[in-house]
Amino acid sequence: MLSDLFDHNVRWAAARRTEDPNYFDRLSALQRPEYLWIGCSDSRVPANVITGLEPGEVFVHRNVANLVHRADLNLLSVLEFAVESLEVKHIIVCGHYGCGGIRAAMDGHRHGIIDHWLQPIRDVAQANCAELSRIAETEDKLNRLCELTVVGQVESLSRTPILQSAWKCGRPLTIHGWIYGLKDGLLRDLKCDCDSSAAKSRCDESFAPPVNTFGSSRKTS
Ligand SMILES: [Zn+2]
Repeated sequence: MLSDLFDHNVRWAAARRTEDPNYFDRLSALQRPEYLWIGCSDSRVPANVITGLEPGEVFVHRNVANLVHRADLNLLSVLEFAVESLEVKHIIVCGHYGCGGIRAAMDGHRHGIIDHWLQPIRDVAQANCAELSRIAETEDKLNRLCELTVVGQVESLSRTPILQSAWKCGRPLTIHGWIYGLKDGLLRDLKCDCDSSAAKSRCDESFAPPVNTFGSSRKTS
């Protein structure tokens, strides 16, 4: 029942005040989290609960399958605020095994508008089709795709102008890719961290001098 939620809230707030009479005064005055969490909307993967972080310690954005669409104004607004105003030090993209979004992206059925949302997952699957095709069990294949999708989103984030600008200004900021196991409650580090030096080497590759196919005939007057 909904009234249970209010009852629980009253008890929780009272317990906090008992532990620390200034708890809410301090929290309401300022939030200075070190972490931005980008995770799946799945109700079984709540950032604060599984990391043991308190209110005020992690800024959170969640969507279906923890995807980074680079035209997603919601995510970009969160990212810009977290990086430029809160000055977070770590951005954690966290997926989870058994993700329904990953499964829906690959099951071959039409689901509606969500099919558009899930397209980056199919892109990741296509880019890694050689590796995925060597995995026999469908469940294992989907779980590997959960991991690969996180890695892909870390890379996508690293290429956003928000992160590129922050690194250019010398801000200490690292993106991490993690995955959570619904069956054991444990987080795993996918070892795909991206900081300013990793991003710079990727950028140098991306921005290698292009071949000038238009010649150099542009004149200035
Ligand atoms: Zn999920």
